[in-house]
Amino acid sequence: MDLLVRLASICGRENVLSDPEDLLVFEYDAGFDRSAPSAVVVPATADEVSAVVRAARDAGVPIVPRGAGTGLAGGTVACGGAIVVSTSRLRNILEIDTVGRSALVEPGVVNADLGAALRPHGLFFAPDPSSQRASTIGGNIGNNAGGPHALRYGSVVDHVLGVEMVLPDGTIAAFGGRAPDLPGYDLVPLIVGSEGTLGIVTKAWLRLLPLPEHVHTFLALFPDVGTGARAASAIIGGGIVPAAMEMLDRTTMRALNAAFDAHLPEEAGSLLLVEVEGLVEECRDQVTRIETLCRAEGAFGIRTATTAEERDALWKARKLGYPALARIKPNNYLNDAVVPRTKLPEVLGRVNGIADRYGYTIANMFHIGDGNLHPVLLFDARTEPIERVLRAAAEILRVAVDAGGMLSGEHGIGVEKEDFMTWVFAPEDLDAMRRARGALDPDGVMNPGKVLPGQKACGDIPTSRIKRGLAEGMWV
Ligand SMILES: Cc1cc2nc3c(=O)[nH]c(=O)nc-3n(C[C@H](O)[C@H](O)[C@H](O)COP(=O)(O)OP(=O)(O)OC[C@H]3O[C@@H](n4cnc5c(N)ncnc54)[C@H](O)[C@@H]3O)c2cc1C
Repeated sequence: MDLLVRLASICGRENVLSDPEDLLVFEYDAGFDRSAPSAVVVPATADEVSAVVRAARDAGVPIVPRGAGTGLAGGTVACGGAIVVSTSRLRNILEIDTVGRSALVEPGVVNADLGAALRPHGLFFAPDPSSQRASTIGGNIGNNAGGPHALRYGSVVDHVLGVEMVLPDGTIAAFGGRAPDLPGYDLVPLIVGSEGTLGIVTKAWLRLLPLPEHVHTFLALFPDVGTGARAASAIIGGGIVPAAMEMLDRTTMRALNAAFDAHLPEEAGSLLLVEVEGLVEECRDQVTRIETLCRAEGAFGIRTATTAEERDALWKARKLGYPALARIKPNNYLNDAVVPRTKLPEVLGRVNGIADRYGYTIANMFHIGDGNLHPVLLFDARTEPIERVLRAAAEILRVAVDAGGMLSGEHGIGVEKEDFMTWVFAPEDLDAMRRARGALDPDGVMNPGKVLPGQKACGDIPTSRIKRGLAEGMWV
């Protein structure tokens, strides 16, 4: 039977897309690479996902899991004529266990919607990627997402107790679960961050935390990026781990003020957005110490959010940073690397040097507390070749790696960075990863062409179908 007919018989005809104009929006995520899937299918249950996977396998067609498509590394780009399996109908919060502090959710649940559902219970799910108003729990798991509060609470891998997953042969299996420390091999940390290459997560048991008693949020204003970075390093070096610590530079502040009237202090060359959480007395002590360290590194002003509304406004501004940058140039390339915190001032100087040499304006807005580095190269694709931007980005990545950093702080490898994996892993390391992947997916049908370098599946795509294009209007 024709694959499309079989998919329609599983999910209903209205939940199978194959017209070229319908497929257009599934060609890319928020990154640069694009390739059209041969179809998009939108199952509503784990059984339907399983049947879809079996049908695709029988037809010899690869499969790409997709959440909201906000990934920045091309993780959902359909290599090898794959079909895309969208989780947009798997949106149920199945259970909130307020006593055991866990939730059971389907993968298409949007991160911020889960937060809203948990708040009345005095609970929260800690991972809070800046894309949280759109990105899904399945995608957060796929990329092991971080976010501002990963500094204190860790990234998604620290908050997933278990998953139900449809394996590449269509079997539905469960790993981990509500109870901690189940016997046997713990495959959950392998699955989290596997970028959809091991199967399709259809349910997840998540760890919940109680909302803190007190939250204190403030801005520390610095003359430039270097002094702000040194202060961030001094704070962590001083033994204080705030709940979140973000850096914004003047370029970003200007864009945010122009776009959203954010009232950020443009007189500063950079600012640290710092949040501490806990008991009132504990917060007071931490704030005093952080302010002292900031002033010692050159901070010339501290602005505190005095109401919940002011706090929300600061975080809203932080999380709207990328769309605001379109005020300056229509396109941007967001680099994602991580470096040892102490190296940040030096690395930021070298990154700015690269941007100057290429003639790009650069904006910095990132989770400085855990050494994430997100310099954004601003350009106009109508007049500037993308290949040049990618060359500058590769140089930036090399600087981060040479400083002892890593290829990705949180956005994953996808198709974007797989060729750089050899910079940081020995052939033996990569071979072990290939064998681990092959144990669950011996035929390489699940999200081929991602993460590991030199894969046949993506090499098989006619070059005309992978085009370096633009994810224009990428913000949702
Ligand atoms: C403006 C903006 C800000 C961002 N800020 C952050 C940030 O602060 N922190 C951060 O970590 N990331 C950030 N990101 C990147 C991105 O939003 C995250 O990686 C997010 O977790 C992706 O979720 P998604 O639902 O869009 O997943 P998608 O992009 O659809 O998929 C991501 C990966 O997960 C896989 N996947 C999706 N669903 C499943 C499933 N059910 N089972 C198995 N695999 C699956 C996909 O195959 C793909 O490899 C940002 C992106 C943008 C555009």
